[in-house]
Amino acid sequence: MGHANISVFVPHIGCPHQCSFCNQCSISGQQTAPTPQTVRATCEEAIRLRAGKLRDTELAFFGGSFTAIERGYMISLLEAAQPFLGEGGFAGIRISTRPDAVDGEILRLLQQYGVTAIELGVQSMNDRVLRANSRGHTAQDVVQAVDRIRQAGFELGLQMMTGLYQSTVEDDWNTAQQIAALSPKTVRIYPTVTIRGTELENLYRRGLYRPMELEQAVEECSGLLRFFTEQGIQVIRLGLHAQESLMQDYVAGPYHPAFRELCEGRLYLKQALCQAERFAQGTPLWLWVAPNAVSKMAGQRRCNLEVLRRRNPVKIRTKADVKPLQVVVTAADIRRIGGSSMKVERFFRDVVEQNEQALYAYFTPDAQILWHCTNECFTAQEFIRANCEYPGSWEGEIERLEQLDGRYVLVGRVFARDRSCSHHVVSFIQMREEKICRIDEYWSEDGPAPQWRQQKQIGRPIAE
Ligand code: SF4
Repeated sequence: MGHANISVFVPHIGCPHQCSFCNQCSISGQQTAPTPQTVRATCEEAIRLRAGKLRDTELAFFGGSFTAIERGYMISLLEAAQPFLGEGGFAGIRISTRPDAVDGEILRLLQQYGVTAIELGVQSMNDRVLRANSRGHTAQDVVQAVDRIRQAGFELGLQMMTGLYQSTVEDDWNTAQQIAALSPKTVRIYPTVTIRGTELENLYRRGLYRPMELEQAVEECSGLLRFFTEQGIQVIRLGLHAQESLMQDYVAGPYHPAFRELCEGRLYLKQALCQAERFAQGTPLWLWVAPNAVSKMAGQRRCNLEVLRRRNPVKIRTKADVKPLQVVVTAADIRRIGGSSMKVERFFRDVVEQNEQALYAYFTPDAQILWHCTNECFTAQEFIRANCEYPGSWEGEIERLEQLDGRYVLVGRVFARDRSCSHHVVSFIQMREEKICRIDEYWSEDGPAPQWRQQKQIGRPIAE
């Protein structure tokens, strides 16, 4: 079962600083300070929605500088969370704070109230960059805070920013290396975005600050993602959360709601391009990835496949033992796609291309096709008509093809050529003497999670 955070955002209140880039209300989407009552209500709702899963869930006080807020107020928030910790409750509490707001006394207090993980906003390990962005602490403060946190036995997370005012790509990489040397368990990477009402906006408008382009940020952050992953450090966030308030106050910079997905896609593409060079141009290739990495390999709007297909015909295939963020390129093994599975692949292609003439040959005379979502049952002939007269022009790709109890289970994505809509289908295909005798199909239209679930922040994107 996956780990999750239930977050309470504590905005800028109490923070004695004003960093050049910070407008916590926009970044966190939280305009008002939470009360103990807010904390209790959040916990109760989490218990209701994540019943039985809370032992994999932490309550997180994120947003501002938790340990820099007024002490009595901070304690009141922690106290409100106490009945929801331990047996049957949250696994612990995470907080985020500044490196210079962590001393021995505060750490003892946090331990007393069940805090298990501390994330420090490091942002840069370069004192010149820290000064230029009015951070009010030094790189040495970070090292000392990390030392104290580790000695007190908390889990450590560090957050860094790229493309800050007066920071170069080299400075960002130095920061990443120094952060890795401090061996945090987790890292968050935020490319700097210019937000209304900040000093950075002022610098930008006066032409003194040039934000990174999205493309540059993806290039840099995908490299950082690989770097930290190779060091065994988990990158738990890449890019700012999509918040309505952030969109309203956005001024400039590399913001994208699926920034992580862009970075991961870039990593897959680079590896695949590099490995594909070992094969002659035109050789059909298979791209082996972990079962949940198909869309990342394909890239946004399948841009990675388009690039790779300029040189070789490629197909994505999945294997459980391929690690996340890894792709293994092999020549397509024609023998392994022979027989019935190849027939199923061809059948899917002919369905997508609405190839009426070809489709008749796949079915036994008594074949039945059941569309369960719309409660419809077809003969082969009716199915071919329903499929081929379906309005529009389509493309598609098999995301998974498995054999189960003598049936094929196919998961496919079918999308309009003009990209106006996209659907997923799960088909259970039963064969008799190399022909299809029954299909049970489940179609659904792709789209964002409903508003109520987005508001409650339940779950996370499979690919960010
Ligand atoms: S320390 Fe954190 S909360 Fe305070 S101004 Fe800087 S970024 Fe904002």
